[in-house]
Amino acid sequence: MKTVLVTGAAGFLGSHLCDRFLAEGFKVIGMDNLITGDLKNIDHLFKEGRFEFYRHDVSTFVHIPGRLDYILHFASPASPIDYLKIPIQTLKVGSLGTHNLLGLARAKQARILVASTSEVYGDPMVHPQNEDYFGNVNPVGPRGVYDEAKRFQEAMVMAYHRIHNLETRIIRIFNTYGPRMRLNDGRVLPAFIGQALRGEDLTVFGDGSQTRSFCYVDDLIEGIFRLLMSDYVYPMNIGNPDEITIGEFAKEIVQLTGTDQKIVYKDLPEGDPMKRQPDIGRAQELLGWEPKVHRSEGLKITYDYFRSLSNDELYKKEHKNFDAYFR
Ligand code: UDP
Repeated sequence: MKTVLVTGAAGFLGSHLCDRFLAEGFKVIGMDNLITGDLKNIDHLFKEGRFEFYRHDVSTFVHIPGRLDYILHFASPASPIDYLKIPIQTLKVGSLGTHNLLGLARAKQARILVASTSEVYGDPMVHPQNEDYFGNVNPVGPRGVYDEAKRFQEAMVMAYHRIHNLETRIIRIFNTYGPRMRLNDGRVLPAFIGQALRGEDLTVFGDGSQTRSFCYVDDLIEGIFRLLMSDYVYPMNIGNPDEITIGEFAKEIVQLTGTDQKIVYKDLPEGDPMKRQPDIGRAQELLGWEPKVHRSEGLKITYDYFRSLSNDELYKKEHKNFDAYFR
């Protein structure tokens, strides 16, 4: 039986990865410090004999006893609101955390896949974004802590590959949605759905002409699985090229929720990219991968998930574990 370590296991993507690798017959070791993750995302896994969990911050030394075949590094705050609140932790997990996990991968002779992001392209001057584009990032802007940590992460992963022959994989993830996103993480989709469910106005930032391209989580997880099992070491975009303006997206959510909420406009946050759409030619060619779930279908599933949450969850303003990390 192969063993995989998933960091950020209690988060949105990490928890779906745990599910997928258990379903594939792996032994799964989950690790999370629970700053932004939540144990409820993996509660259902503790009865599974092939699942283990460590509460640990990967920015400090990581020890795992025994054999390890694969490492999936998905620990990081990943929404603008989160990394504005905990910028130093965001920098540390992308840099020091990655360094620790690369060292662990070397020691175990394990293959490591790291989660990078479309944020490495910053506010892009090339559209759609392909992997050869170097990006347009402001290192000292509010998003710099995330963008630069992820860019440093990619550089370090390639150095370990080149110097130590480590088996490495880099995925650049574009906006992804689905069940287990945090309702209060500030991202546009939970923000809009939460507002609709609470009977509040939907807040579009700027004039709503900025674009994003939303990928359903199952499609993303399939892309990650294929990339891990492939022999491709350079960065790979995984995302859904179906691009929409945020203004149109707000209208879709109003329609989806069957509410007649008003749409109101607020200031565009500093450094908010104006356009984002993945060029997935490389994934199509090398992995035979492309997204299958249409937004209308994925949004329905996600809406049902958010509707099933308790009122407590719906009105909670902030994640409970932030306080412990404000220092
Ligand atoms: N956004 C919005 N209203 C909200 C939250 C976000 O209009 O209540 C916009 C945000 O300014 C950005 C887009 O939606 O242009 C996507 O934001 P998100 O935080 O989901 O992620 P990003 O793609 O910017 O990292």
